[in-house]
Amino acid sequence: MNCFIHRELPAIGVCKICSKAVCAECALEGERAITCSPICSEESQRFQQMNKRAFKIYGIGEKPRGLPLTVTAPLLMSGILTCAAGVGYWLEPHMLFVPAIFMLMACGVGLGAYLAWRKYKENGLNV
Ligand SMILES: [Zn+2]
Ligand SMILES: [Zn+2]
Repeated sequence: MNCFIHRELPAIGVCKICSKAVCAECALEGERAITCSPICSEESQRFQQMNKRAFKIYGIGEKPRGLPLTVTAPLLMSGILTCAAGVGYWLEPHMLFVPAIFMLMACGVGLGAYLAWRKYKENGLNV
């Protein structure tokens, strides 16, 4: 197989996007991919970004339609802390600072869940 431009030169690879054979002179080496032109190189980069994005969202073994663990875990934690605060207040109403600390922690963790959720939304897929 020879280069599709330089018929006399042997091809070192095939363009990832348009499958044309390219020689060492023509090949553009991108991130883990060989391409034949700047247009194909750009296309290849777009593909890779899409892949990376998909990895980020599904890479943790979560069901595709579910929320990522980075959102559900702190949300659950926040719920538990809120319950603990409620129980603490119910048991010892005069020791207000204990449930207050729990509530503060719940707010912090809840904020973390919200930020993770927003980041997840920013990645382009609707929840
Ligand atoms: Zn190409
Ligand atoms: Zn060539």
